Order: sequence, then C-alpha cells, then structure tokens
Amino acid sequence: MSGSSPDEVGQGDAGQGAAGAALEVKDLHVSYGSAKALFGLDLSVRAGSVLAVLGPNGAGKSTFGRAVAGLIPAQEGVVELDGRSLRGVAPHAVRRAGLAYIPEGRGIFPGLSVIDNLRMAARVVGDRSERRAAIDRAVALFPILGSRQKQLASSLSGGEQQMLALGRALSTRPRLVVADEMSLGLAPLLVNDVFAGLAAARSMGITIVLIEQFVHRALTFADDCTILSRGRVGWAGPAGEAGPEVIEHYLGGSE
Ligand code: ATP
Repeated sequence: MSGSSPDEVGQGDAGQGAAGAALEVKDLHVSYGSAKALFGLDLSVRAGSVLAVLGPNGAGKSTFGRAVAGLIPAQEGVVELDGRSLRGVAPHAVRRAGLAYIPEGRGIFPGLSVIDNLRMAARVVGDRSERRAAIDRAVALFPILGSRQKQLASSLSGGEQQMLALGRALSTRPRLVVADEMSLGLAPLLVNDVFAGLAAARSMGITIVLIEQFVHRALTFADDCTILSRGRVGWAGPAGEAGPEVIEHYLGGSE
C-alpha cells in the first residue's frame, strides 16, 4: 500500500473543482476472493480528456471503476489522481479528492426524494452555503431535477434517474468522473440525454472516463480508448484509430 491513509489523499487543491485531473493506473491487480478480475491493468487518462473504456462482458471494466473509486481493494498497483495516490483511500475521501464514480445501476437512493438525493451527494462539500450551491448547480445543469425535487427517485424514468446520478456526481465539481455504463437499458432518445449530460461535464473541463456498451457512440465522444480483454489491456490508442478490425477483434458483435 502506498502513502495515503483511508481518510486522506494529501495536500493540495483537489476537490475544489479547478481543472480536470489526470488519472494514472499502473499494474493494477484486483481479485474477488480467489477469482482474479484485473491482471496488471495499465491505463492513463489525460487531464481534460475523455477516455472510453470498452470491453466485452466480464472484461473487468466495472472492477476497474470500483477499484479507482475505493469501493473494492486492489492487491497491487498504482492509482494516482494528479500524482497523488488513491490506493487504499476510502470512497468518501476519493470523492473529496475530486474523483466521482457513477456506478452501473446509477448509485442513487431510490427510496429518497430527488432533493434528498442531491443533499446526500452535497454532504462531501464544506459548509451549508457550499452544499446549497452544489444542489443549485445540479438543478441548473438538469432543470428536470428541480421540477421533480419532491418526487421519489424510484418514480423517475430511467433517463431522469441517470440525470439525477449525473447531477449528483457533477454537483460537487469533481475533477474527474468515471461513468459506468450510464446508457445501459435506456431507449436511444434517453441515451442522447445521457451524452448531452456528459458533454456538459466535458465543457466544464471535467476529465471523463466513460465505461460504455455503445461502442460507436463512445468512440465518437471520446478522445482516447482503452479496450479491456480478460482483465488486461487488449488495445489502447486514440479513439479515432479504433477501426472496425480492432472492434471486431475485441468486441465482436457490439453495436
Ligand atoms: P459487464 O460489462 O458485464 O458489466 P465488466 O467488464 O464490467 O462486465 P466486471 O464486472 O468488472 O466486468 O467483472 C470482471 C470479472 O470479475 C468477471 O469475471 C466477473 O464475473 C468477476 N466479478 C465481478 N464482480 C464480482 C463479485 N462481486 N464477486 C466475484 N466475482 C466478480
């Protein structure tokens, strides 16, 4: 384990929402009990860029997302946000350091109202006025959250729930967002809304790691691409260079 304690990432202005942050992952090994899921993953995301992380089912995409967010431990390797180690750091401290993870399945509280979901997310920032500003920011980005604020999150449509997930993530001005399969199960029109939300994040200067099943959509949106294959990097390069042969080879029948 490298230098950081579970509640701390180190000194600096992380979490202040300045510019996007660079993420560096080196030789990352993650197991679930005796089942190994990542076998020495190397991956790097340039500050302010969008990286698409693609791969077939079971390739290790979500495991990578959960590991960098501090939700599951890594047995070996390096995870650094702007040069500061996140390895062994607790999820709330990772969030404070400026990395927001939107898990597959949205990561919202279905039994709470929209406004309470936003309040929960805002708890990671300083004082009351900052929390208020965080909630206002989410509503400004996604006005639907304002008009539905008293509604239970579970009663929102799938697309609205993703807006809530993204609104929660962006409200506290992260420097990097890892979005795990946000378009999963959504109708095409709602997928457009998700990408519009991500485009808003990008225009705020936020670095984005996009774990996606919609391969072509992700490649069009991203600057760079890393394709995982059985817990390792199969291919990495500029998104524009992930041609049909590469996609066919690593992703087979993906759309
Ligand atoms: P998908 O696109 O289907 O979500 P993925 O690329 O995100 O796939 P992961 O969910 O990271 O893949 O899974 C990587 C490997 O780890 C798979 O072999 C999976 O079965 C295994 N795995 C994932 N979660 C667990 C868990 N909680 N316990 C045990 N094994 C797990």
